[in-house]
Amino acid sequence: MASPSVSNLCLDCGAVDFSTTPSRDELQVLREIGPSSALSPTGTCELCDIMNWMLDAPPNGIARDNLSLIRSTSFEAGKGEGYDYRQPDRWPHGFIKIARPSDIVEHWGRPYHDISDIPRFATFTDSPNPDRFKKKRWAYCMPGTVNPGRLDCTAIHSWLQYCSRSHDHCKPSSHPELPIRVIDCMMDKVVQAPKNSHYTTLSYVWGTSPDDSEVSDGGSLINLPVTIRDALSLTIALGYRYIWIDRYCIDQKNPAEKLAQIQQMGDIYQASSLTIFAACGTGPRHGLPGVGETPRQIQIKREIYGREMVGLLDHPRKLIRGSVWMQRGWTYQEAMLSRRRLFLTDQQAYFECRHDFVRDEIYGLGEPLYSGDSGLGLRMAPGAPNQSMFKDMTFEWSTSTQIFRYISDYSRRQLTFESDRLFALLGVLNVVSELKYPVFHLQGIPIITSTPAPRNCWGPQVPRPVWSITTAFMVGMTWNVEAGMRRNQEFPSWSWISWAGAVSWGGNGHSEPRIDGITDTSALFSGSVWIEDSSGRIRGLETYRDEGNTLGLSLPRIIHVESETYEVNLIHLSNSLEGCYTFGDNHYRYHESGQRLCAIPAGDWATWEADSTIRSYISFNSFDVGTTLAMAKSYKVLVVLCGSQERQMMGGFGATEGKVLRMSGENYEVIGHISLSVHSVYFKPSETSGIDVSRVTRDMVLPKMKRERVCIV
Ligand SMILES: [Zn+2]
Ligand SMILES: [Zn+2]
Repeated sequence: MASPSVSNLCLDCGAVDFSTTPSRDELQVLREIGPSSALSPTGTCELCDIMNWMLDAPPNGIARDNLSLIRSTSFEAGKGEGYDYRQPDRWPHGFIKIARPSDIVEHWGRPYHDISDIPRFATFTDSPNPDRFKKKRWAYCMPGTVNPGRLDCTAIHSWLQYCSRSHDHCKPSSHPELPIRVIDCMMDKVVQAPKNSHYTTLSYVWGTSPDDSEVSDGGSLINLPVTIRDALSLTIALGYRYIWIDRYCIDQKNPAEKLAQIQQMGDIYQASSLTIFAACGTGPRHGLPGVGETPRQIQIKREIYGREMVGLLDHPRKLIRGSVWMQRGWTYQEAMLSRRRLFLTDQQAYFECRHDFVRDEIYGLGEPLYSGDSGLGLRMAPGAPNQSMFKDMTFEWSTSTQIFRYISDYSRRQLTFESDRLFALLGVLNVVSELKYPVFHLQGIPIITSTPAPRNCWGPQVPRPVWSITTAFMVGMTWNVEAGMRRNQEFPSWSWISWAGAVSWGGNGHSEPRIDGITDTSALFSGSVWIEDSSGRIRGLETYRDEGNTLGLSLPRIIHVESETYEVNLIHLSNSLEGCYTFGDNHYRYHESGQRLCAIPAGDWATWEADSTIRSYISFNSFDVGTTLAMAKSYKVLVVLCGSQERQMMGGFGATEGKVLRMSGENYEVIGHISLSVHSVYFKPSETSGIDVSRVTRDMVLPKMKRERVCIV
């Protein structure tokens, strides 16, 4: 070791002892800091510089008192991300970190540090005595420093090779005829794609500033923005010749071809050898950091007692999640459908395939560099969640119900053109229609035709439920959108695609309808559904499957539904309403029959008189918060699924899900959703009735249903 020199350390840091590497599960306190103001200003002490950098991590504005500098090889799970990397053998120097007393948690009787609040780490990069690790079964991993100017293509190449060699599921699918055109990166030209060509794909943000790049009649590319140019040179550097980029490879002036290619996007991304994701900047002029002229952020690095200490970069997932790229609607399926993903952030590259993930800041010593399916690869790095970021949607064991989650995730993203709301998900919708348990869709409403047998840990295997197309469609119709939407008139009101807003399912903001425990599907919906096409022809929904899934622009926009309905008034209560009763406000109370006196909070309510002496109230979700509803007018609620208490116990629908309808000419349009169950109803006896509340039964407060057929546009 170099002779200790304290000249570049402040007095307090000079007293820190780094000489003993922490043993397993040991938590060393290196320095009691106190308040953050006790640190030396940046540029005066090497170690204080590192600590100041750690405190610079968001969230800002939290109390920075009582701090200490700690070192450990073991950290505890962070909130929500599933971090866990008690792998001391793999991280020989341990990690240095700032902690507050509240960050130290006890886990199995030992102190661990919860990393969630100040999630920045530093460590030494020098190699410890290799003999110590010679006999270890696993290689250990060292944080390295990332060259700000240059992306390490050799490393990326080795990840790709490892993946090709070892992972059958990551191999590009075979679509010999796709794509139609690609860019030849050697010639800077759009060319007819050679059959079975290996190609990369690019996912990026088109941006809002004018883009004057174009494809000449001869296919030459003119005025390419720097991100595109970098993607072409990276493609060559990684050993490929062709790249597919939607803007240039789809003839934007040919609407028929454009639609056909949009339908094929799932296949194009799945057949791609690698997708490059520009997860930085706000448009195509940012460049791919480290590839061309765009530099990467400089990693903090200091010399302490002659040893190099580096600050670990922010976890790439954090940067990806915070990027403009992540907010865009079109990029959702580009990530979901790709089998190998290379994300370029302003700090470093991050590679994720269907089996593993790795980033260029961290390298392993010895073999295996990258240990694939064993789950013991470089994913065990600080801040590395133990699952891939984008779920594998096309694996055999994918359950069809995941489509609900996909739609929910996708709906949280933004589109420049709301008219793309269905198009930008068509690749995913087409892929799930080819799964073992296929999912079809009608205007984006998923139709699960079959699901695997419900899980039942205790009893015998439950038989696989049989879904009729109509019931499956009605399960899809339990969609809900959260506040702040506007209506897109191009799409039918009965589909979530016509509303801008985050989609959930059923009444309680679930990302999936709770269909797991349901075996008897016939009790869910007993009505009928017809579809009306643009020529006015009406036929039963059951025939829809025979006609294939992708009807393109001829998708029916009008449905006729025969089901139970009930009438409600929508009112606004500006003050809370005293003297009301409820049968219990949550599902744990379902066995109770007692009524409780309570007040209804102010807000919007749906209300009806089920009995001449009682008025009932239930909260409803209006999709269109921008438009003031004509309050106190009568609205119809169409039952899309019947709930029951028994079903709720089994995991299924406890509430009767209904769509709120508003008259629109001769027809109806959907404007909201109500989840009706006896526990969510409040009731108020009329003051003159003198009714004995304890004699009020559930039937007296629930709305009277009648069966009818409505036409919804
Ligand atoms: Zn210091
Ligand atoms: Zn792989």
